[in-house]
Amino acid sequence: MSRIAYVNGSYRPLSEPLIDVEDRGYQFGDGIYEVWGVYRGALMDAEGHVARLQRSLRELRIAMPMTTAALMIILKEVQRRNRVSEGYLYLQITRGVAPRDHAFPSPQRRPIVVVTAKQVDPAFAEEKARNGVSIITTPEIRWARRDIKTINLLPNVLAKQAAREAGAVEAWFVTDEGLVTEGSSSNAWIVDENGVLRTAPLSNAILHGVTRAALTTLAEQHQIRIEERSFTKEDALTAREAFLTSASNVAIPIVRIDGREIGGGTPGPVAKLLRDAYYGAA
Ligand code: PMP
Repeated sequence: MSRIAYVNGSYRPLSEPLIDVEDRGYQFGDGIYEVWGVYRGALMDAEGHVARLQRSLRELRIAMPMTTAALMIILKEVQRRNRVSEGYLYLQITRGVAPRDHAFPSPQRRPIVVVTAKQVDPAFAEEKARNGVSIITTPEIRWARRDIKTINLLPNVLAKQAAREAGAVEAWFVTDEGLVTEGSSSNAWIVDENGVLRTAPLSNAILHGVTRAALTTLAEQHQIRIEERSFTKEDALTAREAFLTSASNVAIPIVRIDGREIGGGTPGPVAKLLRDAYYGAA
């Protein structure tokens, strides 16, 4: 079955040429994206991702090209056409097509909207959840507006590749001050040596993870002591537990950071509890 994408009003096979060479996303990374996890046929945290999408567009002064209702219909249609029951939906909106010039095109162009979907075998994530994963750390070299979910992902790409070459699945960015901001495609969490669940507070330094927000609420509901307070790499190395969160993997325990064992090298209970609670609340 060939995969089908939505591109500006029509559903087309991915094998067709779909994007103009002068799309500003292609030339400048001038656009935003969003990812919805699909679990048992349902879009997880649908509204949270739409809200972040609208915020990202607003911050970059790109017009929302359709209503939320229309967007939801398109997302579900792409899901249906690609027969995705487990996996994710990807949406990208760029500032449109215009002769190359850094400044915004005038008059404004029609934003280019692309939606794709991918079926993923849930066994992959379950295996990671069961055994835990290794991560590395890498210097934080990104720009100052990491709260915007832009398609400019070069530092994230380089960090993920460094992780892969080290036999790890993720890289945590560490600032010059020693603070862990987040992963290349996930938020970062620890249960510190005092048993407090910690993740960096919301600011321009991190992406405001939708899964992060959901798990924060679930932690409170389960009477887990939680503080939205940054932690250092050293805090992580001495933590009882570490884990990462994202829409596509929910919560994945970390058992090694830069080759050092965390929590005795086995997944901890808090990550498991929150993962189960998230799916249970679905
Ligand atoms: N930080 C970064 C840099 C990411 O790319 C992602 C994944 N989109 C996240 C955090 C996690 O966000 P969410 O839970 O909304 O997927």
